[in-house]
Amino acid sequence: MAEALGLEPVEGPPDPDGADCVKCGRCCHHGPSTVHLLDVDEERVLSRPGGEALLARLTILDDRPPGWRFVRNTGHRCAALDVSTPGLYPCSLYDVRPDDCRIVEPGSPACLEARRLGHLGTSVRFTRERAF
Ligand code: SF4
Ligand code: SF4
Repeated sequence: MAEALGLEPVEGPPDPDGADCVKCGRCCHHGPSTVHLLDVDEERVLSRPGGEALLARLTILDDRPPGWRFVRNTGHRCAALDVSTPGLYPCSLYDVRPDDCRIVEPGSPACLEARRLGHLGTSVRFTRERAF
């Protein structure tokens, strides 16, 4: 049987302060090459003790130009998601998570879509508006 793309949808709006996030985790369910790391993201991970090993274990360099570094996937979820406790979805990288993840705030378009679908989709922009 094919692995489900994500989790069950979640009804209702999330707590704006993120109190629902660990029990939700829908936005951390997505396809490969979704969360990318720029230099600032890499530096943040490297600033953590054991950061180099963490970067090697949880991220991968895309061999296609321009050679982005992405968070690895485990099936249809981010490999950094800690699924050791059933029903809870904490991020094992939370303190040094990439900016892509910081943009998906509770109640943002991507958050609401992830809750509606049970995984992060592609029909809404989840990047910051750019001034250029
Ligand atoms: S989808 Fe929204 S409520 Fe769920 S973990 Fe992500 S930000 Fe939090
Ligand atoms: S790095 Fe953390 S916050 Fe970002 S997608 Fe992975 S588990 Fe979720």
